[in-house]
Amino acid sequence: MPPVFRFAPSPNGFLHLGHAYSALLNFDRARETGGRLLLRIEDIDATRCRPEYETAIYEDLAWLGIAWERPVRRQSEHPADYRAALEKLSALGLVYPAFESRAEIAKLVAAREADGPWPRDPDGAPLYPGDAKSLSADERSQLIASGAPYALRLDMAAACRGAAGLSWNELGEGPDGERGSVPARPEVWGDVILARKETPTSYHLSVIVDDALQGVSEIVRGQDLFHATSVHRLLQVLLGLPEPTYRHHRLIRDEAGRKLSKSSRSTGLRALRAAGIAPARVRQLVGLD
Ligand code: GLU
Repeated sequence: MPPVFRFAPSPNGFLHLGHAYSALLNFDRARETGGRLLLRIEDIDATRCRPEYETAIYEDLAWLGIAWERPVRRQSEHPADYRAALEKLSALGLVYPAFESRAEIAKLVAAREADGPWPRDPDGAPLYPGDAKSLSADERSQLIASGAPYALRLDMAAACRGAAGLSWNELGEGPDGERGSVPARPEVWGDVILARKETPTSYHLSVIVDDALQGVSEIVRGQDLFHATSVHRLLQVLLGLPEPTYRHHRLIRDEAGRKLSKSSRSTGLRALRAAGIAPARVRQLVGLD
């Protein structure tokens, strides 16, 4: 079976040189290996995603000379797939509703920090500090019946008990030079959010469901997602999904060494195109060729 690659942007802004690098690496790998290249639109966050950004993704990738298979999978069209995975995790007793608002969580963290630093995840966000896990079934149903908003969280301690000794095969490189067999440490993320009352999924859940459904065998993506792979491996094992290999790549940075953002105009692909830059030059700018 030919290897399957995917480029999976979120249409919440215009693509920049960092996306071009990731997309071109996927495209090149697919060509070198006789593999397939899929494009997936990760548009579960309805508040931030816009149709004009999705249209721009197609235009910018085509301008770069990248070809991808149709149809394109748009995550917003597949809530039932994510709900099925969530139900499976719930049936394993690994999911619980947590009712604190963001502001309440910030307050809880501040209170805990009075006794010393509260642990943070690899992205720098404090771990979930609440104790919703210990609410009784009655308390949960009452809160849900009252219409209170909630997040569905993974009981990380319980999930890890069933999946010790996890690792993944890293063909690229992590931020600290990790490669080869990398031990997964999902516990450093705490009780991650898998879904919300209004949104039946999250980044972590939808990405592993889609990669499995689409048969993605090699995941080529930026090092900013290296540590998230620990959560992805855990969810794959819990759900009995196949294990892809991973190839994390360096991030393209601006002159000041900062990670590019979708709002930085000078490195946006549209701006480069408007300035008369040729696609071949984009390859050079990101260090390919
Ligand atoms: N949608 C994610 C992003 O735009 C990428 C997801 C992935 O490659 O796993 O950052």
